[in-house]
Amino acid sequence: SESVLIVGAGHAAGEMAVALRVNQYVGDITIAGDEPHLPYQRPPLSKAFLSGEISHERLHVKAPATYDNANIRCLPNTRVTAIDRVAKTVTTADGRTLGYGKLVLATGGRPRLLTLPDERIHQAPNLHYLRTIGHVDALREQFVAGNRLVIIGGGYIGLEVAAVARKKGIDVTVLEAMPRVLQRVTAPELSEFYARVHTEAGVKILVNTALTGFEFDAAGKITTVLAGDGLKIPADVVIVGIGLIPNVELAEAAGLAIDNGIAVDEYGRTSDPDILAIGDCSSHPSAYAGRRIRLESVPSALEQARSAAALLVGQLKPYNAVPWFWSDQYDLKLQMVGLNQGYDTVVLRGSPAARNFLALYLKDGALLAADSVSRPQEFMVAKKLVGDRIKVDPAVLADETKPLKDLLA
Ligand code: FAD
Repeated sequence: SESVLIVGAGHAAGEMAVALRVNQYVGDITIAGDEPHLPYQRPPLSKAFLSGEISHERLHVKAPATYDNANIRCLPNTRVTAIDRVAKTVTTADGRTLGYGKLVLATGGRPRLLTLPDERIHQAPNLHYLRTIGHVDALREQFVAGNRLVIIGGGYIGLEVAAVARKKGIDVTVLEAMPRVLQRVTAPELSEFYARVHTEAGVKILVNTALTGFEFDAAGKITTVLAGDGLKIPADVVIVGIGLIPNVELAEAAGLAIDNGIAVDEYGRTSDPDILAIGDCSSHPSAYAGRRIRLESVPSALEQARSAAALLVGQLKPYNAVPWFWSDQYDLKLQMVGLNQGYDTVVLRGSPAARNFLALYLKDGALLAADSVSRPQEFMVAKKLVGDRIKVDPAVLADETKPLKDLLA
């Protein structure tokens, strides 16, 4: 009989399992995930869940009863360790064998670890990464007013944590090795804006400052962060946000094609037609980018899951959305669409000083990407305009008397 086994119980997995039933898929559906939880949302881990504004229950991707009602079998605490593509089975860490008709790899990624050659780092009770509920739970008691927090990495996660920490009255220093925060994802104008917002909120941002090591007390706890040319920063707690490593090892060991992620086509198929991959672990051909890309974002995980669920009921719905992403820091809602690499012109619409503006990126006269700070309506329009790669006069984009929506075809 038909069956789907989904490995990993994250955002993509929860969405896919339910989408299969919505599409009238009648075979068995199993989700095997190594965490002790039903599929949950990670974005709040550095936002409302970290701040304590929302509880565990609010993190579910689907209400827990949904899985029972839809006859979806969830196997928490189940780590898949090997795939046998000939027998069409997988092996679990506790020695079980599970069969599949179609296998879906939704294994996400894991935090990139510090690589300093000091073993004590990995045992320090006050050094944390941020990818799972377990990570936040481990951090909780140390994430309190009066503590001195050092964040390694000025990317989204680092800056979101900084914002929550300041609201809680925690002393915050951000170490960034590159010349500016958010360097890998946005333009200097946006980096400068966010650096200013954080500085005004009391965050100490140190750019061009590489981590060089730590000092520990006798119990193995970090007391001081060492950085740059002899900088010593006292620390009660350290949070590291230096990127993600996609979990491809399972696929790689099974001989599937890997290309900065488990390589899939626009329907989610790997190099084995009975195995699909979705979400952060996968790389897909992007018509928008003109090359294969791997995204780490909820919208793409969801859309890839829906496209893969359609495929398994015989419908071809290629995944070819323009990438988009959001980040919440303080009262600011950042939304980004497209990839701005290679832009030649950036236009600001609105006012960074008023904390309300768009940055629009053009290449050869066509709109390539857009970042929106607290302008959700205009962002919706910008998403369409970027998708259409409209050709537009930069002066028109900057002119707030001309509604963006007038540019829609
Ligand atoms: P995951 O959610 O990572 O799920 C994969 C699951 O598979 C994990 O539970 C993993 O443990 C499990 N697994 C791995 N290997 C195995 C195995 N061999 N056997 C069994 N289970 C396995 N995105 C946004 O769009 N906006 C945001 O604001 C945003 N904020 C974020 C903030 C934080 C702190 C983090 C960590 C991420 C954030 N993201 C955000 C990214 C977003 O959460 C991811 O893109 C999304 O979770 C990807 O879903 P996924 O299902 O592909 O992978």
